[in-house]
Amino acid sequence: MPTVHIRFYEELNYFLPKQKRKKSFSTRFTPGDTVKNLIENLGVPHTEVDLLLANGSSVGFDYFLQQDDMISVYPVFESFDIGRISKVRPQPLRELKFILDVHLGTLAVQLRMLGFDTQYQTNINDDELAQISQNKQRILITRDRGLLKRKAVTHGYCIRSKHLKEQLAEIITRFDLRGSIHPFTRCLKCNTLLSSISKQEVKGKVPEYIFKMYTEYKNCVSCDRIYWKGSHWKHMLKRLNDMFSNEQKTKNDTAPER
Ligand SMILES: [Zn+2]
Repeated sequence: MPTVHIRFYEELNYFLPKQKRKKSFSTRFTPGDTVKNLIENLGVPHTEVDLLLANGSSVGFDYFLQQDDMISVYPVFESFDIGRISKVRPQPLRELKFILDVHLGTLAVQLRMLGFDTQYQTNINDDELAQISQNKQRILITRDRGLLKRKAVTHGYCIRSKHLKEQLAEIITRFDLRGSIHPFTRCLKCNTLLSSISKQEVKGKVPEYIFKMYTEYKNCVSCDRIYWKGSHWKHMLKRLNDMFSNEQKTKNDTAPER
């Protein structure tokens, strides 16, 4: 079988076995195979890739491999200006919306708490997740690499950490969301945008001690929940503060050894 030489850059190395990380290595391919197939066979979901070079020229996922090609695979760039080079995914999603797989319920609540449009439900299978991601232009967040390798999924992200705090930091860093955080705007239970409601209107609907303590309230017109800036709010602010003061550390931690 013919061979190509391939190198993965930056955090894409996370998906590779140790001996293949951060260096060029040779690998065989089936004649007629595309570069997308090759990188996914090596364990890297195509949704993680933003730029592909074959022998120094940028190519798309459908590029057919040739004997002795030198392939370079880059992740989504955060701040590196790649200017005129065409990325594999030319149309970024304008408004970031997410759909989370069934194992990430706590993370879904956290994202909603920060105001991000986050679809989450427990009664949904992988096919439906992939379809909704494609049809509704929602970025699919999962820890399941197989799910991200599906053709229907064009925008997705594989969560590295198993810890909630780090997962949240990963998403904020990866999608550059720091300037887009709007806490206290979205229902944690059903994702609907909250409406302001006067203190008088919540009288009798919230516990008496809450009513005495808080003046600002919002409600969800879909599920009738009432929100105020209570202890969960303070915990969230503290978590954000901690996250941003540890941001540099978090960046270095996104490609852990396995
Ligand atoms: Zn609601």
